[in-house]
Amino acid sequence: MAIWFNDNIGFNGDDISVSNDHRPGNGVAGMNGAFTGSSDYRPDRPERYSRKVFVGGLPPDIDEEEITASFRRFGPVVVDWPHKAESKSYFPPKGYCFLLFQDEMSVQNLIESCLSEDSKIYWCVTSPTMKDKPVQIRPWSLSDSDFVMDDSQTLDPRRTIFVGGVPRPLRAYELAVIIDRLYGGVCYAGIDTDPELKYPKGAGRVAFSNQKSYIAAISARFVQLQLGDIDKRVEVKPYVLDDQLCDECGGERCNQKFAPFFCANVTCLQYYCEQCWATIHSRAGREFHKPLIKEGADRPRAVPFRWC
Ligand SMILES: [Zn+2]
Ligand SMILES: [Zn+2]
Repeated sequence: MAIWFNDNIGFNGDDISVSNDHRPGNGVAGMNGAFTGSSDYRPDRPERYSRKVFVGGLPPDIDEEEITASFRRFGPVVVDWPHKAESKSYFPPKGYCFLLFQDEMSVQNLIESCLSEDSKIYWCVTSPTMKDKPVQIRPWSLSDSDFVMDDSQTLDPRRTIFVGGVPRPLRAYELAVIIDRLYGGVCYAGIDTDPELKYPKGAGRVAFSNQKSYIAAISARFVQLQLGDIDKRVEVKPYVLDDQLCDECGGERCNQKFAPFFCANVTCLQYYCEQCWATIHSRAGREFHKPLIKEGADRPRAVPFRWC
């Protein structure tokens, strides 16, 4: 199961229902009445969001301290933005930042306190030149990390693609719909999240119910993800597992070690030990195949911050 589902995502009826909550463009405000303003404090409320939250449309002169001051009431928080450590700037350079909350409950409280408009949510911040400017708050809902499109199918890792460079707001449901429109036969899509904050890392996986769709997808190598505002060309590869035995010798020629190589060429599409790789790829027409190695292993990213 670990391959398929991100931590803490249950695989029950709620999470796989397609009908209402996962429509593209529905926005977080449409989900489960999250923003209807119930203020009941329930310490046992289940975890629903990443502790990392995107904030867009910041005033250009707002600095890290002023951002922190605007959100501190929700709990211990750290302000971050890409390349912050190297930039030595106190101002988010592109008008957006991320809030890293210590507790997930802070995110729920922030969301409940936000103003909602056109299925977007806003919170007001104050900088030296702008008072109470609404900025967009974009939380990541954990239920958007996995989506089962066809639960009659068993998920076959050998019919699964890895999709790199996925735009961060893209939800599993949307990835499934886009890929299904292109190749058909999608039964599952997942967005890879980091184990620490459970925020999208910019990659995903899509499993197909049939070999034809899978081969069509990996043969294309690139796909254009188009949906709403999103329009991005991304790379597609077979999803490579690190616990497979060599398909040629079943581990006989390599002491039952897991196969280090996968050949993504459609004439092979197999896992190989070193010896079998060499044997098979000395055959005419296969000399130019290149082994595919597993994509970036999931390791928790240390968060080098102090909570303030
Ligand atoms: Zn072998
Ligand atoms: Zn090959």
